[in-house]
Amino acid sequence: MNTIVSSGKCRLCGRLIGKAQMTKHLKTCVSNHAIAAPAKQGKRTRSFHIIVTATYDPRYWLHMEVPAKVTFARLDRVLRDIWLECCGHLSAFSFPQERSPRISSGEDLSQILARLMTLDYDDDIEEQGRLMRARVGSRLVPGMKFEYEYDFGTTTNLSLRVVDEWPTSPSNAKIRLLARNEPPDIRCALCGKPATNICPDCESTDQDCTFCDACAVGHRCGEEMLMPIVNSPRTGVCGYCGPSVEP
Ligand SMILES: [Zn+2]
Ligand SMILES: [Zn+2]
Ligand SMILES: [Zn+2]
Ligand SMILES: [Zn+2]
Repeated sequence: MNTIVSSGKCRLCGRLIGKAQMTKHLKTCVSNHAIAAPAKQGKRTRSFHIIVTATYDPRYWLHMEVPAKVTFARLDRVLRDIWLECCGHLSAFSFPQERSPRISSGEDLSQILARLMTLDYDDDIEEQGRLMRARVGSRLVPGMKFEYEYDFGTTTNLSLRVVDEWPTSPSNAKIRLLARNEPPDIRCALCGKPATNICPDCESTDQDCTFCDACAVGHRCGEEMLMPIVNSPRTGVCGYCGPSVEP
């Protein structure tokens, strides 16, 4: 059996690098490509090196440079543009162990649950609104892991990890894509050639769902059901066909 190693292209030097080596590579490559911007002492600010991985399909990953001063809403926008946006679904960031529910004695379990459910819901909406307006630098530190969900119905889950931070120019307000996985090698279920189409109906029932153009002709669910395969963890989900817009 072949071990399929996921690799991606470094956007700074153009080299193809294995997934496991990319973090280390970028550390040097970013400093080699840094624009020597003369900044006054104390005027420098930070950017985070963040790895984004599709939680349930780690073949899909991104490395990004995110200036501390951009908002979570901006990060949300960039993730949507690269990988996710189909019909403007809701999305949310979440941090582990944020809230410990307060439980007063004298409440029975159903009262507690009812209270938590309403509270959590209102809290979440308000909390997300606040979070989206906040600068990422107010929350993130190197080593931190957090989660992201796009679409609470047919959800795409992403796991994010802050692996590093480095100084950046205060005028830098742009999220930069540093690296991205190459399109995974997805094969036609019928003939083994590279697949170009995916059938969401067949996928949702765990049947063979990826086909080349020739084998897609006359697919039993109807050819109009088929969607183009795109380099995204949302391929075949809720009508997502790209296009991928990189920052
Ligand atoms: Zn490089
Ligand atoms: Zn959608
Ligand atoms: Zn085929
Ligand atoms: Zn089908």
